[in-house]
Amino acid sequence: MRSRDVGHNGQMPSDADTPVRAVFIGGSGRTGSTLVERLLGQLPGVCNVGEVVFLWERGLRRGERCGCGVPLPECPFWRKVGERAFGGWDSFDLRRFLALKQSIDRNRFIPALAARSAGANGEAMIRAREYAGTYAQLYRAVREVSGCPIVVDSSKHASLAFCLRASAGIDLRVVHVVRDSRAVAYSWTKRVRRPEADVAVTDAQAYMDTFSPRKSAMVWNTLNIGFHLLAARGTATTLVRYEDFIAAPVSAMRALAEFAGTDPALSFMTAEHAALVPAHSASGNPMRFTAGRLPFRLDDAWRTRLGRADRALVTALTLPLLARYGYLRRT
Ligand SMILES: [Zn+2]
Repeated sequence: MRSRDVGHNGQMPSDADTPVRAVFIGGSGRTGSTLVERLLGQLPGVCNVGEVVFLWERGLRRGERCGCGVPLPECPFWRKVGERAFGGWDSFDLRRFLALKQSIDRNRFIPALAARSAGANGEAMIRAREYAGTYAQLYRAVREVSGCPIVVDSSKHASLAFCLRASAGIDLRVVHVVRDSRAVAYSWTKRVRRPEADVAVTDAQAYMDTFSPRKSAMVWNTLNIGFHLLAARGTATTLVRYEDFIAAPVSAMRALAEFAGTDPALSFMTAEHAALVPAHSASGNPMRFTAGRLPFRLDDAWRTRLGRADRALVTALTLPLLARYGYLRRT
């Protein structure tokens, strides 16, 4: 395996037939995954492209801004990617693709895609392969346009990861990021404006989604269980606890560089902060627009701000995984 890894000059054979190495960041939202994605993207030979799952609707259809600040359809990087992948975005049948997405990229199809008895010719598997084939074309174009053999997609959804696994054109590696469910629940209650949504026509488009603590606990369970199931089915996966990552970011990034298959060249960061450069992220947390010096600071506001009843509810609903990840030992 190491022979195909990235060397000191960040190069790896990247002819059209080689499967694209895609490092997929998975887990619940509000886990610090955008930070992990951006730091990964600054490693040699790695290109991070944000949450590709939202590229289609938010970036291409609505014209929301790329991480570089330009409306995505006008971003030179994404324009070149569209040309390489599909002969230009005008030639890409977005409506048909969104219908295909609806028909397979949903949590309820995970059991069908994960079943040990799922044959290669099962109906769900055929749709997943077609759907993931578009991602493979896109990742391959990102690889060509960026010159980076490793592509990082921080889409996070378990259903998408199960689809990507069905494509022979994708060498999938999953970074499963977890964070204390109580911290995640508190974060989902906050109303946050989306800076990229200048073109928003509804409040739902202008603001990030908010979830009740009960809903966020259920989503947290579903996504985390989904990624444990994916790992159990043989997809290369590494688990990262957000709290451990913030406490020791340099050693965490060294391990992630090895997992991704590149050199741990970390001159852009210390144990205290990172120097972030803008990236062409398709969509994601508003933090994707942050550039320059960013201190590593644990956000544990939930310990004082999440109400007692909500805290008890989320703890009860997520107890098995909270225990598995070691979060019950600290409180
Ligand atoms: Zn851009």
